[in-house]
Amino acid sequence: MTPTPTSPPTSSSAPTPTLPIEALSLTIESYVACTKCAAELADIEPKQSLQDYAQIDVGFTRWGIQVWCRRHRANIVHIDFGGAQLPADFRRLETS
Ligand SMILES: [Zn+2]
Repeated sequence: MTPTPTSPPTSSSAPTPTLPIEALSLTIESYVACTKCAAELADIEPKQSLQDYAQIDVGFTRWGIQVWCRRHRANIVHIDFGGAQLPADFRRLETS
């Protein structure tokens, strides 16, 4: 099955953002990576970044949010929201 792009969940009234505007910049402190991709990459020349090598899909599921390795067709992580509806900020901050 080919994944299709989806829109973020919508509601009749957009929730008030809870994050500061700085949070819309790249603030990732710990990347999620496929361990098999990382292992393969160690033997590949010329060297490239894991970000460039990885083929990752991220999306919402009935349980929460899943990170999927397209290259290995394997789950990397599936975060269970436990039924909670967590605040999410879909505002887009363009960077140049
Ligand atoms: Zn992988």
